[in-house]
Amino acid sequence: MRVIAIDGPAGSGKSTVARALAAALGLQYLDTGAMYRAVTFAVLRSGGDPGDPDTAAATARSVELDIGLDRVLVDGFDATLEIRGPEVTRAVSAVAANPAVRRELVARQREWARQRGGGVLEGRDIGTVVFPDAELKVYLTADPAERARRRAKEVTDLDYETVAADLARRDALDSNREVDPLMEAGDAVVVDTTGLDIEGVVTSVLALLKENTDG
Ligand code: C5P
Repeated sequence: MRVIAIDGPAGSGKSTVARALAAALGLQYLDTGAMYRAVTFAVLRSGGDPGDPDTAAATARSVELDIGLDRVLVDGFDATLEIRGPEVTRAVSAVAANPAVRRELVARQREWARQRGGGVLEGRDIGTVVFPDAELKVYLTADPAERARRRAKEVTDLDYETVAADLARRDALDSNREVDPLMEAGDAVVVDTTGLDIEGVVTSVLALLKENTDG
């Protein structure tokens, strides 16, 4: 099984790098952040409180997720846009800190890769928890101001200040939570993408992978 793990905080370039790597290597791509967002969306849609541990856990276990490259279905409902909206973004870190939710989604991520003989997975804990034996682990970082600028460009309806504040809050919650916090795997290749063009990052990672395989 060929697994490539791409971890890092929001706005570090994970999605762009992971998608490009998957295309270059002929592997499928899974955005695990979209799964945590989708569970959060399902809780909100049913009128539940995302901060209530039992509600979030029960939803994670029962929800039907279809995480496609450009489309996310939650119990058959197309939630592609909603999972990126402010309501979900505000609540997702609380849901992701819930150990029962993580247990369920990690199991689904492993199963996803098993069925496909591997894949490129992006998230926060892929190299540390989901696939500690991944063939290659990349940890992307970037300066917080640059990450906020990138994110602000993607979401058209929020200003830079709001995006920067939300990012800082999520960074803190994701890095300080008790279960599977955001951190670098000891054997990850760390790339600071501040000021780098993402194409260049993809080329370097592919070269690295080739070196690993040849060596
Ligand atoms: O990657 P994205 O910003 O869409 O992820 C949304 C949230 O999902 C993160 O802020 C984090 O709380 C959570 N997450 C996680 N573990 C992952 C992927 C995402 O806890 N593997």
